[in-house]
Amino acid sequence: MTEGRIVKALAGFYYVMDQDQIFQCRGRGNFRKRKVNPLVGDWVEYESSNKTDGYIMDVKERKNELVRPPIANVDQAILVFSAVQPDFSPLLLDRFLVHIEANDILPVICVSKMDLVEETSEYEKIQMYIEKYRDLGYEVIPTSTKTDDSLEMFYPLFKDKLTVFAGQSGVGKSSLLNAINPELMLETNEISSHLGRGKHTTRHVELILFGNGLVADTPGFSSLDFLNIEAEDLSKFFPEMNERRGDCKFRGCSHTSEPKCAIRAGVESGEIPDFRYEHYVSFLQEIKDQKRRY
Ligand code: GDP
Ligand code: ZN
Repeated sequence: MTEGRIVKALAGFYYVMDQDQIFQCRGRGNFRKRKVNPLVGDWVEYESSNKTDGYIMDVKERKNELVRPPIANVDQAILVFSAVQPDFSPLLLDRFLVHIEANDILPVICVSKMDLVEETSEYEKIQMYIEKYRDLGYEVIPTSTKTDDSLEMFYPLFKDKLTVFAGQSGVGKSSLLNAINPELMLETNEISSHLGRGKHTTRHVELILFGNGLVADTPGFSSLDFLNIEAEDLSKFFPEMNERRGDCKFRGCSHTSEPKCAIRAGVESGEIPDFRYEHYVSFLQEIKDQKRRY
């Protein structure tokens, strides 16, 4: 039995990539009794007696699973946030970051539409946020699909990872995906011609090869409510808080009113940005309100 990865699922078939070959497979075997529904991104064991088709015999355990788009084993999310139109929202960005960290996904922040702020009063504010997120350890990539004719800076990021693009509607996700496509066709002629892109004609997600990695052709991210996050875990998903939370005097410190709180000390010393702490407090409140309602 051989191992491969599902890169496309359509009409009862799973397209399993193994090295640079694609096998059109149907499901068979024990995973169906376990009620496992194979997803794009799944590592699978498959059987094939020829070079074109076969059967999926088993689905490996997943490290994570997105509902929208339905993808398993996502390694990285490129969070696209426009500088303007819509306005840059650190509150929404932090909400995305919490979910991404909670799903064990590596975040990359892409600030799009930089061409629209270059000569405006917004520029400094955006630049300030870019610096702050970089100081927190995040990779931040400013982009413009209008002025950058190549988006080469993305290229090395994709290597050996499964990447999804996420962000609000209108921020430029599709434009970015389209801007990186031409290269992709050159690189992957064999696989992409076999699969056929059929983009936007059908509502299915497909993984495309780019920069020696896989990129989901459909942007998105599962819901951003906090239903799956416990109040006491929230600070784990703010890296600058996570590294301090062990130093609070009280176990189970909520970092809001307890004495000798290492996180509030970090806010006072300026090591934790005020806006990040404010977002933490507002998410915490949201989690508590949710718990009360359910
Ligand atoms: P999506 O909803 O996130 O996929 O956003 P789209 O890619 O559809 O882009 C929304 C609008 O923003 C379109 O009118 C794009 O032409 C425009 N847009 C996208 N990227 C840029 C950019 O870098 N600069 C400028 N000026 N406009 C952009
Ligand atoms: Zn604390």
